[in-house]
Amino acid sequence: MNKNADKIRMIKRTCVIIGILAVFTGIFFAGKAFFSPAKGVAKVEQTLQLATELPVQGLGKSAPQEYNGQVRKVAYLTFDDGPSKLLPKFLEVLKKHDAKGTFFFVGGNLAKKDLAPYVKQTVEEGHYAGAHSMTHKYGKLYNQNEFVDEMKEALKMIDEITGKNPKLVRPPYGSTPGLHEQLRNETAEAGIKVWDWTIDSNDWRLKGNPQGIVEQVMKGADENVEVILLHEHQQSLDALEPIIIQLKEKGYELVAYDEKAHFPVNFWKDERL
Ligand SMILES: [Zn+2]
Repeated sequence: MNKNADKIRMIKRTCVIIGILAVFTGIFFAGKAFFSPAKGVAKVEQTLQLATELPVQGLGKSAPQEYNGQVRKVAYLTFDDGPSKLLPKFLEVLKKHDAKGTFFFVGGNLAKKDLAPYVKQTVEEGHYAGAHSMTHKYGKLYNQNEFVDEMKEALKMIDEITGKNPKLVRPPYGSTPGLHEQLRNETAEAGIKVWDWTIDSNDWRLKGNPQGIVEQVMKGADENVEVILLHEHQQSLDALEPIIIQLKEKGYELVAYDEKAHFPVNFWKDERL
């Protein structure tokens, strides 16, 4: 009799313990079910926010434009330090492949009267002519703060030759570190736009090595919008045709800068420029 009563008491106690465990387990899982989705949403939101905060790779490349449901791939071939005697040859290659370019001319070269007709031809053939300062001298531009004055003067020279009134400039040596805040403020106030680049072809140091230039450009061409830095040098001219052909094979349109569709491409990520 006693044994049986003990057994019953033990069974009752076990039931109570199981019951308590069941209740706690229930609360645990209910709690998990209640809080988890909220946590999940918060996590997704945080990830989305982080993704939007991420700088577009390299620079402020513009968002991909869609055309007929397809994302457009656009490459801007840019040529610094002209006009030079090679300019008509650059124009010839561009024309042959129905490609447009963006040229940044130096005032000192614009002053050479025999080159003016080629500058005019550049614009007439649908390319863009912007300024690359008067002197190309780092100290004058960025230490003596003559950046805006020099750009205004060079832009005016282009206007006088071409009848266009361009607003885009390419800072010699790139905008960092030279184009400090005061100069950026002055540039923005003057309504001048500044383009750095997304791909440096390194053409100036690849003299006699056009294949190296082609490789350097193609290695970098992986975004839907690329701004490619080249110069009016012989090795760059030799590299131009294969660059155009290979960019087209990769699906890029080769267009000139368009002031009406400006988007910022500067190392400072200054949206005003
Ligand atoms: Zn330059």
